[in-house]
Amino acid sequence: MDCETFDLLKTTVTRFVEERLIPNEDRVEAEDAVPAEIIQEMRDLGLFGLSIPEAHGGLSLTMAEEAEIVFELGRTAFAFRSVIGTTVGIGSQGIVIDGTDAQKNEWLPKLAAGEAIASFALTEPGAGSDAAAVQTSAVRDGDVYRINGTKRFITNAPRASMLTVMARSEPGVAGAAGISAFIVPADTPGISFGKPDKKMGQRGTITCDVIFDDAVVPAANIIGGVPGRGFKTAMKVLDRGRIHMSALAAGMAQRLVEESVRYAAEREQFGQAIGAFQLVQGMLADSRVDAFASKVMVADVARRFDAGEKLSADVAAAKYFTTEAVGRVADRAVQIHGGAGYMADYKVERFYRDVRLLRIYEGTSQIQQVIIARSLLREAGLKV
Ligand SMILES: Cc1cc2nc3c(=O)[nH]c(=O)nc-3n(C[C@H](O)[C@H](O)[C@H](O)COP(=O)(O)OP(=O)(O)OC[C@H]3O[C@@H](n4cnc5c(N)ncnc54)[C@H](O)[C@@H]3O)c2cc1C
Repeated sequence: MDCETFDLLKTTVTRFVEERLIPNEDRVEAEDAVPAEIIQEMRDLGLFGLSIPEAHGGLSLTMAEEAEIVFELGRTAFAFRSVIGTTVGIGSQGIVIDGTDAQKNEWLPKLAAGEAIASFALTEPGAGSDAAAVQTSAVRDGDVYRINGTKRFITNAPRASMLTVMARSEPGVAGAAGISAFIVPADTPGISFGKPDKKMGQRGTITCDVIFDDAVVPAANIIGGVPGRGFKTAMKVLDRGRIHMSALAAGMAQRLVEESVRYAAEREQFGQAIGAFQLVQGMLADSRVDAFASKVMVADVARRFDAGEKLSADVAAAKYFTTEAVGRVADRAVQIHGGAGYMADYKVERFYRDVRLLRIYEGTSQIQQVIIARSLLREAGLKV
């Protein structure tokens, strides 16, 4: 995309966030759902196709460009971004990165148009951080595989038309090498969905269990056509996804700084605006530093990702820093708002709960620490 077209897209998204999404935040919170007309407007803007190649109907954004758009979407309730999140990110990227031409031609145009929604089903009751421990089985039976098992906390599963499912397909092969990534249409007989999970925050987003009871998919639905490569595909998808998450965290940090500054300038105590007190200024300054550092870090990893650098450890560093930083910023925002910060009428209480998830999914903070430290130690010659 040329610079002028991208700038136009970014301005349009910024305006959409300010004029349509922010004014609908309370409605999403009250109804625990994103209004259908907003989802249609997101389709019309092409937001479902941000990361899908132009040849397949998407906008073909680079990671750096996607990060800038996600930053804007991060400045409002996460439920809006979540509608497109799995389709732009973890649900579709396996096909974009490793899919065969037939798989791309079949799924990407529908996903880019927002006619189909993609989910990513890796986590299981017994396999979270230890993703290579998945037990969902895919047993070959002639030209098909029979899938059995349960996936947990799957975002957008009830909305999805297709799921990228990690299942153990190679008998006798333990760990990562025994896993394949399957494209599974959500209406495949044998698939059922659990009740929507009741969550701490992020109202308007949906997660639930997905249960596979002898769900039959063609062998041709293995992403890339080669069994045993699913874990590698999942890790590539997660590298990209973690930059996306970091941009989301940076966007929300920016919003929370704005909310904090506005309140500090308006609220008066002891005859003056609370922003005049240096202890409040300290909190504002620390939040600005966290938000600024997050934005710069995201821009750096996104640019280097686009340049083809292998940078899983720095992506982990960005995910770790930005998601922890937005937690600190949200905490200070509540503090700056005083008692009002604890009340649902002021949005910082809601955002405080919403951002908590960022430190958990797509790899917990501890898993990011492990990735960063192992990379350093391997460079030093230690086998870890
Ligand atoms: C709202 C929500 C949406 C989600 N959406 C999806 C989705 O769409 N698709 C999907 O596949 N998954 C999804 N997940 C799952 C998510 O990715 C996992 O919850 C996450 O990876 C952590 O796994 P776990 O919950 O099993 O925690 P565990 O792995 O059990 O971790 C528990 C604690 O132990 C720590 N820990 C674990 N291993 C280590 C280690 N080696 N070193 C140090 N500490 C460690 C963790 O950091 C954590 O603090 C979602 C989760 C939530 C809550």
